[in-house]
Amino acid sequence: MKIPGVEYKTLCKYCNLSNDLLIAEEDGFMVYAYDEPFNNGHVVIVPRRHVPLSELSIEELYRALRLIRKAEATLRDVYHPQGLNIGLITYPHAAFHVVPRWGGDVSFIKVFFNTKPIPETPIQYAERLRKAWGS
Ligand SMILES: [Zn+2]
Repeated sequence: MKIPGVEYKTLCKYCNLSNDLLIAEEDGFMVYAYDEPFNNGHVVIVPRRHVPLSELSIEELYRALRLIRKAEATLRDVYHPQGLNIGLITYPHAAFHVVPRWGGDVSFIKVFFNTKPIPETPIQYAERLRKAWGS
């Protein structure tokens, strides 16, 4: 149900990520350190346009995949993870999450307290990845 007069786009999480978390802007996409990270280095790649996956062109999907590949290379350089997961949000705003993974990274603290300590804040690791992204 939509409330008349409400601009839903302004409620979109991905349209409102902080510039402090911005790592790069390339090819019509924004790359951010995610503000609710599952792990240290968790990034999200979002199209500048507030559109679902079904409205991205094939060319845009190709560019997104290139950025995912660049995120993988950057995260491997900086964090040396044992693996990387990609999560895809399709609607209302397409978003590609790239999450470094290490063995045992789901600890009892996450399981019992639904919280997870990470060594850097998203603002700290955004700065680190911003430097590594261009190189
Ligand atoms: Zn949006």
